[in-house]
Amino acid sequence: MKIIPFNKPYMTGNELAYIADAVKQGKISGDGLYTKKCQQFFAENYGFSRNLLTTSCTDALEMAAILIDINIGDEVIMPSYTFVSTSNAFVLRGAKIVFADSKKDSPNIDEDQLEDLITNKTKAIVVVHYAGIACDMDKVQAIAARHNLFLIEDAAQAIDATYKGKPLGSFGDLAAFSFHETKNVIAGEGGLLVVNNESMWRRAEIIREKGTNRSEFFRGEVDKYGWVDIGSSFLPSDIIAAFLFAQLESIQDIQQRRKKHWDHYYAKLYTLEKEGFLKLPIIPDYATNNAHMFYIVCNNIEDRTALIEFMKRRLVNPVFHYLSLHKSPFYSHNHDGRDLPFSDYYTDRLLRLPLYYELTNDDVDFISESVIEFYKQK
Ligand SMILES: *Cc1c(COP(=O)(O)O)cnc(C)c1O
Repeated sequence: MKIIPFNKPYMTGNELAYIADAVKQGKISGDGLYTKKCQQFFAENYGFSRNLLTTSCTDALEMAAILIDINIGDEVIMPSYTFVSTSNAFVLRGAKIVFADSKKDSPNIDEDQLEDLITNKTKAIVVVHYAGIACDMDKVQAIAARHNLFLIEDAAQAIDATYKGKPLGSFGDLAAFSFHETKNVIAGEGGLLVVNNESMWRRAEIIREKGTNRSEFFRGEVDKYGWVDIGSSFLPSDIIAAFLFAQLESIQDIQQRRKKHWDHYYAKLYTLEKEGFLKLPIIPDYATNNAHMFYIVCNNIEDRTALIEFMKRRLVNPVFHYLSLHKSPFYSHNHDGRDLPFSDYYTDRLLRLPLYYELTNDDVDFISESVIEFYKQK
């Protein structure tokens, strides 16, 4: 039997050639030729006219927390069902996180709950487009505008996905993407900060360059550069950008193939959903599917644990996902005690199936048929 891992990073073919070229350019620190090529790609293909490559999505989120001037005691609303970086970035600046629940039919934040969580200390709402499936951005934008709050998109999983035809990442004041090797388009580690709020642009460049106005100096806008703000080293080496650019050139091919696998899984497992054995992802009319992830929702944690065991015996590695942050060892004592039943529901029941470029149709058949067999023998 063949081992089917949960993820396998895909190389499109040009990565090493572009890295060699980046080295030959004689400039392998940040903001070299390939960084510019990547940033131009995002501007041209997704309309992100102000964007900066970063060392990770985590770092892009940390930049966001600095850019909206988080101070001690400021409240930031976000889903509990998310990755630690979504909250850590703001906790590092002294924020208090106010966790919102997920929706019944989606791990995304429940937009209808947001307004009840807003206080006079609330500074920002952070949404996470889970599995690359959009939150209802009309609703969220209206709430943020009504209460004068910053809106940030954790779009780590959301490259090439849209809401009502517009790319995710273009709705918040700021948006953060990830190119970690588990995402659709990868650079090993890497990220992107999209700055839609023009008033934050100058400062974004400065914060990314250790708090200096070095970028302006290189453009010849100032005759020397110095320390003008807080900041850190948030810019990736051009070697990483070279790898990423090879991926970006193949993004359509990558997306097509991932969507094919996703649709194949869906078609195969549809009957199990009809029979009530599990639930499948829902793509709302306003969203497109970027096939970042194929997940199923089991009826209970016992089913999920048994299914993982069953699949592992067949050398297939499905993986569950987040653990509610409001119950985390680090943060639970700061949580206000509200129950967040749907965050816990996905914590216990959601299971991600292998989804990567080099998966074959036969692999998807085998994985799906194994899931079906598990439920039929129950
Ligand atoms: C992957 C991911 C991150 C972190 O991305 P890095 O690039 O690894 O820092 C943050 N938030 C979400 C929702 C993610 O899926």
